[in-house]
Amino acid sequence: MSHSPVSIGVLTSGGDAQGMNAAVRAVVRTALHEGAAVYAIYEGYQGMVDGGDRVRSLSWDDVGSVLHRGGTVIGTARCPAFRERDGRRRAARNLLQCGIDRLVIIGGDGSLTGANLFRQEWPELLAELVQAGEIGEATARAHPALMIVGLVGSIDNDMVGTDMTIGADSALHRITEAIDALTSTAASHQRSFVIEVMGRHCGYLALTSAIAGGTDYALIPEHPPAEGWEARMCEMLRNGRAAGRRDSIVVVAEGATDRTGHPISADYVRQVLEERLGEDTRVTILGHVQRGGTPSAYDRWMSTLVGHAAVEELLAATPDSEPQLIGVRYNRIHRAPLMQCVEQTRSVAQLIAEKDYDQAMALRGGSFTAMFEIFKAMAAALPSITPPDRPRRIAVLHSGGLAPGMNTAARAAVRLGRDRGHIMLGVRGSFAGLIDGRIEELSWGDVEGWTALGGAELGASRQVPTTEQFYPIARALETHGVDGLLVIGGWKAYQGAYRLHSERERYPAFKIPMICLPASIDNNLPGSDLSIGADTALNVIVEALDRIKQSAMAARRCFVVEVMGRHCGYLALMSGLAGGAERIYLPEEGVTLKDLQADVEHMVASFRAGRRLYLAIRNEYVNPQYTTDFLARLFEEEGHQLFDVRQAVLGHIQQGGNPSPFDRILATRLAAYGIDFLTGEMERGSAAGVFAGLAEGKLTTFPIKQMPDMVDTANRRPLEQWWLELRSVLHALAQP
Ligand code: ADP
Repeated sequence: MSHSPVSIGVLTSGGDAQGMNAAVRAVVRTALHEGAAVYAIYEGYQGMVDGGDRVRSLSWDDVGSVLHRGGTVIGTARCPAFRERDGRRRAARNLLQCGIDRLVIIGGDGSLTGANLFRQEWPELLAELVQAGEIGEATARAHPALMIVGLVGSIDNDMVGTDMTIGADSALHRITEAIDALTSTAASHQRSFVIEVMGRHCGYLALTSAIAGGTDYALIPEHPPAEGWEARMCEMLRNGRAAGRRDSIVVVAEGATDRTGHPISADYVRQVLEERLGEDTRVTILGHVQRGGTPSAYDRWMSTLVGHAAVEELLAATPDSEPQLIGVRYNRIHRAPLMQCVEQTRSVAQLIAEKDYDQAMALRGGSFTAMFEIFKAMAAALPSITPPDRPRRIAVLHSGGLAPGMNTAARAAVRLGRDRGHIMLGVRGSFAGLIDGRIEELSWGDVEGWTALGGAELGASRQVPTTEQFYPIARALETHGVDGLLVIGGWKAYQGAYRLHSERERYPAFKIPMICLPASIDNNLPGSDLSIGADTALNVIVEALDRIKQSAMAARRCFVVEVMGRHCGYLALMSGLAGGAERIYLPEEGVTLKDLQADVEHMVASFRAGRRLYLAIRNEYVNPQYTTDFLARLFEEEGHQLFDVRQAVLGHIQQGGNPSPFDRILATRLAAYGIDFLTGEMERGSAAGVFAGLAEGKLTTFPIKQMPDMVDTANRRPLEQWWLELRSVLHALAQP
């Protein structure tokens, strides 16, 4: 049997997770793009042990139309036989029948451990197979080593070595949807709910969903509550009710215990609430719903990136190279030694079992601990300190276009500011609202329910303060005794803050600490890898693309879909990656007639070769003349009768909708950081003006004066955009 020089196998193993299909698709297409043969091993290790038609070569089209599907199209299983040496020997033989000596394993720590063992035993297994006459010596010599690379598919987000595991974000979507739904019914009846979520050793889903859902209490395995927690929990819920809450929601991770290691069940929490608060309390165990459903935008693009990188890694591997786990760190591809990651992951579970909770929490990383503290501070209706005689006054306002998550940020700011003893003022109607005196104190209860709410309760406007408005704005700040300003918004918000800051010598009222938090679906703000709202918009686009693609099943069709983003191509590129576009038009690249001619030729040739669907995504500002309509007509005309063309301008639905879990978390983290910053400045008596961002995993500030040096002013976007380098992945995955 003749084989191409390199054959790669890909399998999904262990629990299924949304996004596995995107990873498999990227593995298959990258391998083919690089000239390697690629085989799917169906049903995980079981398929490897069974062989036969469970190991099948895949073509480009075999992984078409899988991005939107939950679960894994190549199947997964638990396979006891692979735990036995005999099973692994059979597996080796079956792989060699197809010339496979490189594997991409997508699974949890169990699957990755199994893979490593298999790799270590490979030479011995081959020797045994030769001895038994099952393979020839030449075959054994040709494949002296098994090269493996691991991708982590697990909804729990429980693996050291990657910020996110494949499926965790989608699971968070499912849980957050459920909490939102339960919140509305709970509030209607003034009821309490206890929600159990997955996570035997890892509280990631419980903690992040508790924050994203704006719940009152969370129990996680890494941080069991100290004795007497039942009374403290009830006290907190009582305070919350007194401050205006109409419901109480407690999230329990399935692996939650108390300090003695005794499990805390959802039902026990229900009993406590019923007995001590006398409340009608219901339990909802989410179970497998969390694994199901369509993958989120993040799980599609992240899985695509790691799948692509896995093949690059395998093709560069040599028999002696140390196997790697490919994950993400700060949205960038991150490689780490596979077994080290697995061992550290296991050690967290071990630490929890040994009740060394501080160490377990420390291994989860600094931001996990920080999030836990933020959650506790937001859930408590009473300040954690005795407010000073003259509390500081912080005004919160929005400016710029609407971004889902603005409300989440405002709520977090109000609650965390109050926790620090500040008086929190909400300004309705942006900078103009300041002039009109539309300022009011916001209580803990006033922002109840804002977490999940799209739009902006305080209102937002794109108006930047004019020279004539400086004086009345200064007056308003003085009249209301504003000590610090928190501006949450997009380009116009930054511009407005910049203008006030520039005028601080003339208007002393502007000499107060100011901080801008990035909130814009366009993701076009300097100093932050991502802005609040962009993930939600991306999810809206990806959902729309799913529907658009489905509508075309019967015909040969090209779609030209226009997305927002102004002069920033973030939404176009990322939705292209997540939605499987053949071509994206980015404002950073522009488009010429020559490009369009090449596109048409490629399109025609590929439809001739059997293509049924061609998806082009055009950013709204890519070129003022070559509009979406123009592109659609051009393609229609040049496509003759070969295919038809439809256009879809997605428009303002991209700014709407409830914020995604990721945007809620980002908004909360940024708001906490903003309040910390303002508190520090006010305590020191200094008055810096800054904008904040989350860049390469760290929360940072930049002096607002620096803004002009960091942006392309004419095009209103940062000079440096990290995601532009992902273009190469898109090109590798678009059909040649
Ligand atoms: P996960 O990969 O999600 O952690 P499991 O622990 O159930 O899920 O592992 C999935 C499969 O991986 C198992 O059914 C088995 O075939 C294989 N596997 C797991 N651990 C080992 C091991 N120590 N040795 C060999 N194979 C293993």
